[in-house]
Amino acid sequence: MFGRAPKKSDNTKYYEILGVSKNASPDDLKKAYKKAAIKNHPDKGGDPEKFKELAQAYEVLSDPEKREVYDQYGEDALKEGMGGGGGGHDPFDIFSSFFGGGGFPGGGSSRGRRQRRGEDVVHPLKVSLEDLYLGTSKKLSLSRNVLCSKCNGKGSKSGASMTCAGCQGSGMKISMRHLGANMIQQMQHPCNECKGTGETISDKDRCPQCKGEKVVQQKKVLEVHVEKGMQNGQKITFPGEADEAPDTVTGDIVFVLQQKEHPKFKRKGEDLFVEHTLSLTEALCGFQFALTHLDSRQLLIKSNPGEVVKPDSYKAINDEGMPMYQRPFMKGKLYIHFTVEFPESLTLDQVKALETILPARPVSQLTDMELDECEETTLHDVNIEEETRRRQQAQQEAYDEDDEMPGGAQRVQCAQQ
Ligand SMILES: [Zn+2]
Ligand SMILES: [Zn+2]
Repeated sequence: MFGRAPKKSDNTKYYEILGVSKNASPDDLKKAYKKAAIKNHPDKGGDPEKFKELAQAYEVLSDPEKREVYDQYGEDALKEGMGGGGGGHDPFDIFSSFFGGGGFPGGGSSRGRRQRRGEDVVHPLKVSLEDLYLGTSKKLSLSRNVLCSKCNGKGSKSGASMTCAGCQGSGMKISMRHLGANMIQQMQHPCNECKGTGETISDKDRCPQCKGEKVVQQKKVLEVHVEKGMQNGQKITFPGEADEAPDTVTGDIVFVLQQKEHPKFKRKGEDLFVEHTLSLTEALCGFQFALTHLDSRQLLIKSNPGEVVKPDSYKAINDEGMPMYQRPFMKGKLYIHFTVEFPESLTLDQVKALETILPARPVSQLTDMELDECEETTLHDVNIEEETRRRQQAQQEAYDEDDEMPGGAQRVQCAQQ
């Protein structure tokens, strides 16, 4: 059918791998490879062996010379012709040649790929609680490397780079050292002529814009949208906006929100907390005050008639907390923590007046005889918070000495091994 005498060796396998006929055009091959390679890419959960086979088949059949040899003599003939190495090229390189060096379209992982991924650049971004409550956008000017537009990141006018003569393009040099009669030490180090890149550009051909560096500095203004309800520590990512470099998938610029402490409000998730101190009179007889919210609204906060507010108590207002991220019409609660300031002391007249108003004292259960049997004591003032803190500190120190690792399970595991 093809006008050729059948050969002993198998020369149809590569066509079968790509799923094309033996007279497929270069275009057919290209399409078939592209489709199959995307489907079988290891980054998408494909079989790495199959991916390699596809690349190998395509590499041979897309090269007219190699295809000719393969058609006539089969796979083995090619292996001999290639110096016994077989296969030769990295399947990921063959794959990425289809996508302009941009790596897998939309792919995230870089597993097994030879193309490097540039580093992500992380910037902290200070925001106020007001910013997180109201939402805001911030313009930030950043300077970054971009591929030189004049030479498309080649570094040369002609677009060509020469293989470095010093290292034959490997980027590494090997030097030998004779250590004795039969001993040779081989040492590998980055090539000094090309700084390890494996290529050189002649002075004449060097791109005037980037001086052969392949990249130039560019100022860029990024507008960061801080959305209502975002959290401290939340990341805002600009994919592929970090430094560009040749043959590298550009990393991301990542902003990490850092909420500045607010003088009045504390945030816990979707809720806000605010402190308020009442005088004893306010706590007993009622109060009202205006609270300025994060959006400058004045909230009128007042007690119900006859209501007594106890020290260290909380009250909450629904829907006056933080807006929820991506559901800003939903809001958390605003909690108010009340502290009550008592008078330091009272005059005897004040005591008498109060006794007439306040509920009567509990009747003393003690008879005179019982009182006689009691021992006199003296009450001292104490700073209980300070003492509690000191006690906890001492406990923590004892704990630290006892077990360096939080979650001592790890130590138990080690001991068992
Ligand atoms: Zn070199
Ligand atoms: Zn250039």
